[in-house]
Amino acid sequence: MFHVKQDYMSFKIIAIDGPTGVGKSTIARQLAEKLNYLYVDTGAMFRCLAWSWKNTGCPEDEQSLQDLGDQTQIVFKQDRVFCNNVDVTAEIRSESISISASQVSRFPLIRQVMKQQQRKLVSEVHSSGNIEGAVLEGRDIGTVVFPAANFKFFVDASPEIRAKRRLLQLQERGEKTNYEEILAALIKRDEQDKNRKVAPLRAAEDAIIVDTGKLNASEVLEYLLGCILR
Ligand code: C5P
Repeated sequence: MFHVKQDYMSFKIIAIDGPTGVGKSTIARQLAEKLNYLYVDTGAMFRCLAWSWKNTGCPEDEQSLQDLGDQTQIVFKQDRVFCNNVDVTAEIRSESISISASQVSRFPLIRQVMKQQQRKLVSEVHSSGNIEGAVLEGRDIGTVVFPAANFKFFVDASPEIRAKRRLLQLQERGEKTNYEEILAALIKRDEQDKNRKVAPLRAAEDAIIVDTGKLNASEVLEYLLGCILR
């Protein structure tokens, strides 16, 4: 078991988990900026794997998945995401990659590779000594990747509210879609994420639950900062 509190001493780990379309990225990014912590978007990492997986024809045998994990290089540079040296920042946000990311993330072998990479990113920043903490957002940060994180938040909102937000995002990007399609895809993705055998989406027992349906982004940020800095 990985014991963050002992291993990292004064370095703080903040886990933000929750379902799709709940506003995790905005909250986590703003929180990391405020605190001057590392920000890790683990969903973007699974999306990169999905992008590679689609490019290789989506094989599901052990060896192909191992190769996929070993050969997919993910790099965050400022606001951009690079996968095997290709800037995939915009492409990995499409609805088709969302669906593939949820599919590829159910393989235990893939989750193992991702967990190691996420811990490595944090450990490198910790070793550099320049930054005092990390904010990681995903589905299993507080339950599996950093179960001893200093702060764990589980952000949630109804599927209808999340689908409306997702629709706006996709429309802004010029993707042709509609509310019913988005809602159905979102519910399907929730089910896949909650019911997979390894690291299913769920709140850690000691997580603070935050309903983003009732608060706007700045109210959520204020609430989280209040919990962390009190
Ligand atoms: O958060 P985002 O919507 O970008 O994540 C895309 C998909 O990646 C999710 O639907 C989920 O299946 C998977 N994921 C995961 N564990 C994480 C982050 C994302 O399984 N920590």
